[in-house]
Amino acid sequence: MLPRQRPMTEESRETLLNSLSPENFGQRMENMQLGGYADKVAHVDLTAGIVEYKGIPEDWARLYIGARGLGVRYVYENGPTVDPLSPENMLCFMNGPLTGTAANMSGRMAIVTKSPLTGTVTDSHHGGWSAARLRWAGFDGLVFTGKSPTPVYAYIEDGKVELKDASAVWGLGVHATVKYFQEMYGEKDLTVIAIGQAGEHLVRYASWVNENDRASGRGGTGCVGGSKNLKAVVIKAEKSLPKPADKDAWKKAHDRALAVIMDEANITSPRKGGLSLYGTNVLMNITNTMGALPSWNGRVTGYGDECENLSGEHVYDHILVNNPTCHACPVACKKEVEVKDGMYKGLRMESVEYESAWALGANSGHHDINAVVKMIDQCNDFGMDTIELGNAYSTYMECSEKGYLNGFAPLEWGDWPRMIELTEDIAYRRGVGNALAEGPARFAANLGHAEVSNTVKGQGIPAYDPRGLKGMGIAYATSNRGACHLRAYTPAAELNIMPFQSLSVDPLEWDGKGKLVKAFQDIHAFSDSLDLCKFSAFAQGVDEYTQQYAAFVGLPEFTVDDMLKTGERIYNLERHYNNLAGHGEGSDYLPYRFTHEPSTEPGSEGHTCELDLMLAEYYGARGWQNGVVPEWKLQELEVR
Ligand code: SF4
Repeated sequence: MLPRQRPMTEESRETLLNSLSPENFGQRMENMQLGGYADKVAHVDLTAGIVEYKGIPEDWARLYIGARGLGVRYVYENGPTVDPLSPENMLCFMNGPLTGTAANMSGRMAIVTKSPLTGTVTDSHHGGWSAARLRWAGFDGLVFTGKSPTPVYAYIEDGKVELKDASAVWGLGVHATVKYFQEMYGEKDLTVIAIGQAGEHLVRYASWVNENDRASGRGGTGCVGGSKNLKAVVIKAEKSLPKPADKDAWKKAHDRALAVIMDEANITSPRKGGLSLYGTNVLMNITNTMGALPSWNGRVTGYGDECENLSGEHVYDHILVNNPTCHACPVACKKEVEVKDGMYKGLRMESVEYESAWALGANSGHHDINAVVKMIDQCNDFGMDTIELGNAYSTYMECSEKGYLNGFAPLEWGDWPRMIELTEDIAYRRGVGNALAEGPARFAANLGHAEVSNTVKGQGIPAYDPRGLKGMGIAYATSNRGACHLRAYTPAAELNIMPFQSLSVDPLEWDGKGKLVKAFQDIHAFSDSLDLCKFSAFAQGVDEYTQQYAAFVGLPEFTVDDMLKTGERIYNLERHYNNLAGHGEGSDYLPYRFTHEPSTEPGSEGHTCELDLMLAEYYGARGWQNGVVPEWKLQELEVR
């Protein structure tokens, strides 16, 4: 695709001339031809305490869009062999061109870095309002390198970034940190993204948490923040929606995207669709019935009737108190709850997500929803990934049962009181908590039993058993950030969720899943780069994504094929990075359990996951050689 040149209007010319005046130097460094972007990224050297403002290289914006894609491009430029916990690693907070706009579900940012958990490039997104406020403050992104000699936070307002002393909040949890900054700067128009004690103590799956409860959970991005002595990013900015390049085309694209979200046939339909009513936890009873809910560390593919206690329907009936949302989202899938009885009575938090309820409940062998609420709240406060923590516990429990502990005290299945105590020990790296803070893959490997952890490339699996949803098997194995459901959300096709009805497939069939996963990976790589919420894919398809992007940045010739090629380019860049980082041939695999131990549960009984067959199909579709991107493919996709 040739870059499109738009004639410069008198207004644009004036803006450009203003931008070149000395007082505005650094406010907008380049003459970005694409509309929509702030064209401003703050590059923060934490070692020297210096902030530089630069525009986005326009060819990068065209090739990699923003958020995930652009963040990966910066991290790739920084070098794939960097030690994730060294000052040289890069930590990017990146928006996409649609972030903070009037686009529905556009309150998203990607935190991109080299992961201390997997050694791959990783991107982890969060919602709420922080991404929108970063855009309203005048930025497309923040790129941190180096290590501050003392704890600092970045304060952002009116197009400026300042590094300030964070010693008063170092040692505090996320909730106290947010409160501290709210008291200092006032709550109005303020957002705080912070790490908790887990990030400070370099727990490998520490997360950044935004506005108390919205986490960039996966991959240990908070651990990288802790390694840099960066406690928080604090943004003050009032609402100021960016303008589209093509107003008329944008209105059409926006209205169409909104119509499909509101459509009562879709699960996104406000107050009617399953996602809106029950949140992501609408899935709990569905996967349980299908024999696709990994339970007791994935030894069983369903939890039985008591699973109902963990479900979105149960939460709705018993403890739901509010339905919060994110910037520009009518779906409001967040579920704020309050514990009504027992030792945690009165505890109020958001949100009981499906993955968290599974990881800290069914996969750890219990179904006490109040205990799950308590543990999610702990994770939000300490700043830890609920999925990885749940996998660490279930790995520990299976090692206990099999006598593999090598001196550690055993942890029984479902012992949630002990799990709650251990969560704090992990955040502070105390006792066995220090071993668990390394993540389930390293914990099991250090005990000499790597096979017990259900991990891929060092990251724990999420809540879909690949014996009952086979697309998830190939999706986990080939995910560029370790086991993940969000690189290719095949249940959209396997559970027949709109708008992929034309792709509807049998969850127990392997044939065709390699190609399906490639298609999803490419589409999601593009939407993650816009950056729109992943749940937009329950209503929007390739046309909606393409039209919104084309109208907002002013590229009317941009087609669905261009969109798919862009997603493919981003996916290949990530894979190329990983290849250079040491994840070469043979690094796409599944835990032995899923390929060799047949399901015994109704819905998937007798099935294993035929990974080898799906991998052959997938590599054929990708043009990769056993997981490695060949040079011709990089050239074809203009990866540069
Ligand atoms: S669907 Fe949920 S997570 Fe996504 S933007 Fe809306 S409220 Fe936020």
